[in-house]
Amino acid sequence: MKSMMDVFEHTLQDIYYAENALTKALPKVAAAATNPELKKGISEHLAETKQQIKTLDAVFKAVGKKAQGEKCDAIDGLIKETEGVIDEAKSDKARDIAIIGCCQAVEHYEIARYGTLREWAKVLGHNEAHDLLSSILDQEKAANSKLTNLAVAQANKK
Ligand code: ZN
Ligand code: FE
Ligand code: FE
Ligand code: FE
Repeated sequence: MKSMMDVFEHTLQDIYYAENALTKALPKVAAAATNPELKKGISEHLAETKQQIKTLDAVFKAVGKKAQGEKCDAIDGLIKETEGVIDEAKSDKARDIAIIGCCQAVEHYEIARYGTLREWAKVLGHNEAHDLLSSILDQEKAANSKLTNLAVAQANKK
């Protein structure tokens, strides 16, 4: 990597890999959840994630680069951690709460990445890419807020 564009492209490949990894991991997470609202929320975000990959294809196109992923160690670690707590949880309630926490860690990772990427796109003069990345960022923020609301509702039930 030499230029800002190189760094932008590398990070775009990183999040492209991450979204693809999530489409493979989320069905297992939804299946492990007990709370119907949590299950539904994860399934809906899975559908949204598949759309995000298409939006990322459009971002690659807008900046004149080939759509491809590059291994993201962070998302692999977050997914591994999620699978770990699912296995370790001894009750449905504990598992649901742990799943919410893990999903929020993923959303925060995505929010960090998209927040950075969209600003870089703007600086690089790629306004279409900036707008597309901003639309995904909004979805990730909304997903995170939903999880926060679910966590509060779950905790209040105790
Ligand atoms: Zn990387
Ligand atoms: Fe995403
Ligand atoms: Fe990464
Ligand atoms: Fe997300």
